[in-house]
Amino acid sequence: MAWSRSKHTQPPDWRRRKAAVLAAHAHLCHVCRHGGAEQVDHVLNQARGGSDHPDNLAPIHQAPCPTCGQRCHVVKTAAESVAARAAQGLTRKRPTEPHPSEKRCDTTGVGR
Ligand SMILES: [Zn+2]
Ligand SMILES: [Zn+2]
Repeated sequence: MAWSRSKHTQPPDWRRRKAAVLAAHAHLCHVCRHGGAEQVDHVLNQARGGSDHPDNLAPIHQAPCPTCGQRCHVVKTAAESVAARAAQGLTRKRPTEPHPSEKRCDTTGVGR
C-alpha cells in the first residue's frame, strides 16, 4: 500500500473523473440526496482506504445545498473527524484518570 502518498493527491485526470461522476449521478448529493452538488467526494474517505474508483466517488455539496442549505461536505468531514477521534480513543489507551478519591479535594482539612 502506498501510504507515503499524500491524502490530498488527486489523479491527473481528476477533473475529467469529477465531471463524469457528477454527470453519472445527475449532481445528486450523496449526503442529503438533493440536486445541485458541484463537488465530488470520496464516499469512504481516503484516510480510511477509500479509492479514487468511480464506485467510491459521489457528488456532494461543497457550497450550501440550494434545497436544504446544508454544507454537506463540511458536515461529512466534521463527522468523519469525530469518528476518527472516537476510533483512536478505542485503539489508543487514554492516560488513566486519577482515582475519584485522589481527585476529591480535602475540604474538611482546612483547619476550621
Ligand atoms: Zn447535500
Ligand atoms: Zn440538500
